[in-house]
Amino acid sequence: MLNTLKPQPADKILALMGQFRADPRETKIDLGVGVYKDATGHTPVMRAVKDAERRLWETETTKTYTALAGEPAYHAAMAGLILGDGLPVDRVAALATVGGTGAVRQGLELIRMANPDATIWVSDPTWPNHLTILSYLGMKTRPYRYFDTETRSVDIAGMMADLSQIQPGDVVLVHGCCHNPTGANLTLTDWAALAALLEEKGAMPLVDLAYQGFGDGLDADAAGTRLLAARLPQMLIAASCSKNFGIYRERTGILLALTPDAATRDLAQGTMAYLNRQNYSFAPDHGARLVTMVLTDAGLRADWEAELEEVRTGMLALREQLAAELRQLTNSDRFDFIARHRGMFSRLGATPGQVEKMRDDHAIYMVGDSRLNIAGLNATTVPILARAIVDAGV
Ligand code: PMP
Repeated sequence: MLNTLKPQPADKILALMGQFRADPRETKIDLGVGVYKDATGHTPVMRAVKDAERRLWETETTKTYTALAGEPAYHAAMAGLILGDGLPVDRVAALATVGGTGAVRQGLELIRMANPDATIWVSDPTWPNHLTILSYLGMKTRPYRYFDTETRSVDIAGMMADLSQIQPGDVVLVHGCCHNPTGANLTLTDWAALAALLEEKGAMPLVDLAYQGFGDGLDADAAGTRLLAARLPQMLIAASCSKNFGIYRERTGILLALTPDAATRDLAQGTMAYLNRQNYSFAPDHGARLVTMVLTDAGLRADWEAELEEVRTGMLALREQLAAELRQLTNSDRFDFIARHRGMFSRLGATPGQVEKMRDDHAIYMVGDSRLNIAGLNATTVPILARAIVDAGV
């Protein structure tokens, strides 16, 4: 029976990682996979997480099951981090999930249960997993214009024109910050226009928030999400703790549902717990517990925020350096968008041939759509990349 299975396409980014590992050149640079790396190429365990882990080891007396939807303390800590002060607690349902991917998946399943006919509008381009999960779930999907390939910024006019076709009961999937793969982000004015449109159309946003703290800061990166939460009766937020807490393999995420009233909150909460039960029962708890400890202990939190800020400003410095190198090499400002983009990624706008040339000639690995991971660079490799970009004729 199993021989009837059809081969599934390999994940392009994971395949690229394999290619990188097999490349014998010592000078090789990995700008592919979306993982934060420090200047030495290491993905560290954050200090506060390590501290919390030690405390947990000392105090934890049981590993029996926790609540099906996850611990209320985790829900509260994450809702506070994402929605900020004054959040409408009585309208928020929450679900611990298997990473941010699990939150996206459960969120989409929740939508499918509420309205099987909903069309899910996704940015063009978007994180490829959005598309594969949507297709796997058999949900209707339509793209909206997002990236202006000339200016490498958001094509807000195109986006709003496409979204003017949304129907009541549709869902617009938006990246909360640090758009993956482009690095181009909505301004607060854009978020306000989106909120007004969603309100007018009776459609709901699903915000994918995978990089809070990696762009302009913890609060600034959640500002768009908070604006939608303040103006709309309902929304879903799928958040990941993989990047901002550096706990990728712990698989820690959360799905928040903002509902119009307490009765709907209870309905959503019960359905969300049901979804966990059907898919995997309990989400992993270790990472969620560490996150809760870090967020609720003043000392741990201050240390975490300080380290996250170092990570964020380090990436910004690399962006500035790369833009400056390219300004000098090309005698133009056409790569200044790299300094304007936020988060780990920028879409360079290179052709697949140019991406291949950088890999063949300079052992520089970026994703085929020319998404590069800024955190894969350091002060020494930035000039090497700048030279390669110019050599490849980008
Ligand atoms: N959404 C986006 C846009 C992402 O880039 C990622 C990480 N690659 C995720 C969600 C989920 O990450 P994880 O499942 O590792 O928490």
